[in-house]
Amino acid sequence: MFIGVPREIKNHEYRVGLTPGGVKELVLDGHQVWVECGAGAGIGLADAEYVTAGAKLVADAREIYAKCDLIIKVKEPQSHECQQLRAGQVLFTYLHLAPDLAQTQSLLASGCTAIAYETVTDHKGGLPLLAPMSEVAGRMAIQAGAHCLEKAQGGRGVLLGGVPGVSPARVLVLGGGVVGVNAARMAMGLGADVTLVDSSLTRLKELDALYGPNLKTLYSTVDNIERELSRSELVIGAVLIPGAAAPKLVTKQMLALMPKGAVMVDVAIDQGGCFETSRVTTHQDPTYVVDGVVHYCVANMPGAVAYTSTFALTNATLPYVKALANLGWQQALRQDAHLAQGLNVHQGLVICPAVAEAHHLDL
Ligand code: NAD
Repeated sequence: MFIGVPREIKNHEYRVGLTPGGVKELVLDGHQVWVECGAGAGIGLADAEYVTAGAKLVADAREIYAKCDLIIKVKEPQSHECQQLRAGQVLFTYLHLAPDLAQTQSLLASGCTAIAYETVTDHKGGLPLLAPMSEVAGRMAIQAGAHCLEKAQGGRGVLLGGVPGVSPARVLVLGGGVVGVNAARMAMGLGADVTLVDSSLTRLKELDALYGPNLKTLYSTVDNIERELSRSELVIGAVLIPGAAAPKLVTKQMLALMPKGAVMVDVAIDQGGCFETSRVTTHQDPTYVVDGVVHYCVANMPGAVAYTSTFALTNATLPYVKALANLGWQQALRQDAHLAQGLNVHQGLVICPAVAEAHHLDL
């Protein structure tokens, strides 16, 4: 099969759909992989590494779209890319079609088969191709929060781990899923005093069994959250109700309970945010202050660590890419009902129920 990896063209996107290691796996399976020149340059993956792995370098993405049966990307295709997709071609990437009618219409018009990373499921009910980015964002939340706590960034001037004779900072993590547990691990690793809140007792029991007394766990009630806010220097928002807007667990009024210069990192901002005072910010201008509390609400946190994110993503996608390439997409989806959940668009029809519902389209 001919497999294509175009360079990402979305603004400030430096990730790439396949690493040289991924290319090598596919070449060893007998496939031809075409990679656009400079596809990995933003994160230091040189063209020469792709050639050594067995890829053919292509100067212009148009050649990839014209020739390849399977296109592997990171971000949703931009309108210029959608115009080059065609019937009989499979696109495997993040799509996020539900809030994006224009892209949905472009993919329908192209006639291509579009399989979205974010709707592939696993046998535990998780989303295995979203999880790596949640791991990255969770770990980064503590790094970003620690930086924001510095005085020069408007923070309280507190070192997360403290020093001998001075207490560590108190960190409150709201939500104990993939983001929350990764944030908690990082904070504990730095020596902070960490409390995690979740609405699932089962989840709290799992975390208690994993981390013991190093991690304090609390059931999610307004009372518990208010009490913790009054003593927390760093709060991480990491809740998710799948398919719904994030619940507002911290209201504007509650900010008055917090120490001045405290920091809130709202990782759930891509679902509307779990603090009432959250609004989307960017890596260029990541923070703002409300009532003395620093807010960090960047919606694409993994983009800042594009190197790590690329490897984390491709570790997760590669088995599915291999299945699509080795079996052909129809057989691969027939054999794996979880991969089949990824099928969003095929030959001018929306296949994913959530996307159809969002755009009031018939299945
Ligand atoms: P997850 O499903 O693994 O975990 C969510 C947790 O929230 C679950 O344990 C759930 O029980 C808990 N929860 C739900 N309602 C709650 C409530 N009222 N109180 C306390 N806990 C509650 O989800 P995740 O992968 O950890 O993702 C969390 C959020 O982070 C999502 O919105 C995701 O899209 C977002 N995210 C953002 C970025 C970014 O760059 N900003 C990157 C990755 C993920």
